Amino acid sequence: MKKLELHWQILIGMLLGIVFGFVMTYPDWGAGFVQDWINPFGTIFVKLLKLIAIPLILASLIKGISDLKDISKFRNIGLRTIGIYIVTTVVAISLGLILVNILKPGDGISEDTIAKLTETYASDSGVTSKLEEASRQKDSGPLQFLVDMVPDNAFRAVSDNGLMLQVIVFTMLFGISLLLIGEEAAKPLKKFFDSLNDVVLKMVDLIMLTAPFAVFALLANVVVSSGDPDLLLALLKYSGVVVLGLLLMIVFYSIVVSSFTRYNPIKFLRKISPAQLLAFSTSSSAATLPVTMERVEEHIGVDKEVSSFVLPVGATINMDGTSLYQGVAAVFIAQALGFDLSLGGQLTIILTALLASIGSAAVPGAGMVMLVIVLESINFPADKLAIGLALIFAVDRPLDMCRTVVNVTGDATVSMLVAKSVGKLGKPRVKNWDDHLDEVI
Ligand code: ASP
Repeated sequence: MKKLELHWQILIGMLLGIVFGFVMTYPDWGAGFVQDWINPFGTIFVKLLKLIAIPLILASLIKGISDLKDISKFRNIGLRTIGIYIVTTVVAISLGLILVNILKPGDGISEDTIAKLTETYASDSGVTSKLEEASRQKDSGPLQFLVDMVPDNAFRAVSDNGLMLQVIVFTMLFGISLLLIGEEAAKPLKKFFDSLNDVVLKMVDLIMLTAPFAVFALLANVVVSSGDPDLLLALLKYSGVVVLGLLLMIVFYSIVVSSFTRYNPIKFLRKISPAQLLAFSTSSSAATLPVTMERVEEHIGVDKEVSSFVLPVGATINMDGTSLYQGVAAVFIAQALGFDLSLGGQLTIILTALLASIGSAAVPGAGMVMLVIVLESINFPADKLAIGLALIFAVDRPLDMCRTVVNVTGDATVSMLVAKSVGKLGKPRVKNWDDHLDEVI
């Protein structure tokens, strides 16, 4: 019998997880059961993915750079990557702003709903912790992000997933130096990292064998932990605008992929779908990174020289879905609370949301922290910030899941564009977890 393709397996796991989660909302003990006995398997899966993120960046970026025949190519790749990331992010925020201004989801929110949302969430630890985190981040100077990118201890950098950019900076310096010592001297290290890279990609294959079960656990937990259905319904129009914008972004990527790379967009989406489904289930582009890399390299044919740089950098600084959400959420809150927003204010949102998406960590809920900074940039009254966040908190998790899909799809799209532009979009070379199994049993 032909084996079901991975994305179908994952999709079935997700659907069963959602159904199981709903069933478990009925018995009193249901939510507790899912949290204690089901969710840990999802958590283990996410931990395993995070476990291999740093070794994968190290090995694949060093391999990517040391395979370069011409070091000036790296400058091209770098500049194009950053340039295209900025363009796609600005497109995403502008699209969000256009939609929220036309559809005005905040205008229909009744005083009652605002009061109920405020009462339920304004002092919720989820909201207050985001406000605290935002004030910590905003106190730093404009160039602090550059300072933060440079590690002062390589071993500390590689021991913290939150320091991905530091790892990239260290690895780039290492890779370039490896090129510069000459082929003969570089050979042993190059071989070592080549082989490490193969091992880590094999680990991705092995971990992915459990993906259909893990997404079951993750989604069942999302369902039992979600808030009051009435409040979710009150925010339906707002959520609808965000989701519509995110869908349009996927259409935008498809058009860009087909016009600039001549690659069939449906095929593109099908090839990266396991990464998208995991982004949805984990709400974390950082946790999804190993799978995104594997899909883009092995299944689409983007050369490692490009993907090993574009994707890890993208996971940390390119968040189109998050930026779109920030634009919509900021204006929605302003509309709902009757805060007047000028055209200048909206332009400020574009600029701050762009910077905020670069600064957002690739973890669940990070977008909401940066939203506080976006709101402050348009002089939103500080005493109403908690109320503003309370308005959107109930639907943040499902929207986070959706925007992470767009974040990951955006990174994959840009990796294809850059690869095409430097002649590094080749043939896929799919490897399966059991390719060498018969040699060891
Ligand atoms: N969860 C998102 C990501 O990891 C970030 C966010 O929008 O909160 O890509």
